[in-house]
Amino acid sequence: MGETTKTYTCIVCPRGCDVTATLNDKGDILSIEGNFCPRGEEYVRNELTHPMRQLTSTVIIKGGLYDRLPVILSSPIPKDRMMDVMKALDGVEVSSPISRGDVVISDVCGLGVDVVASRSM
Ligand code: SF4
Repeated sequence: MGETTKTYTCIVCPRGCDVTATLNDKGDILSIEGNFCPRGEEYVRNELTHPMRQLTSTVIIKGGLYDRLPVILSSPIPKDRMMDVMKALDGVEVSSPISRGDVVISDVCGLGVDVVASRSM
């Protein structure tokens, strides 16, 4: 039976441990090594099964101090839906005044996550 290894750099904290998972030919995790703490094992298990990412971007704002308003998701989304959300943000325009935390897009792409302003303007 063949085994493969995959190495990830844990991004949960600045220590940045290189964590190696060993998988059998069915993709089952046989071992996880190199993590200094349990959060690294959880991070790699998630990367192997359902990787999630936070997304930050900007949208157009009218009447604000700057031309673009920084936005962030209310919680991480599946990594493979990042481009869908970026497309949904394309061309979105809001008007000042906006408060930090205001919803810019509710339930973006049906993911159950909101795009919110990450600053007031
Ligand atoms: S395994 Fe633990 S100590 Fe290492 S980077 Fe991840 S969170 Fe930090």
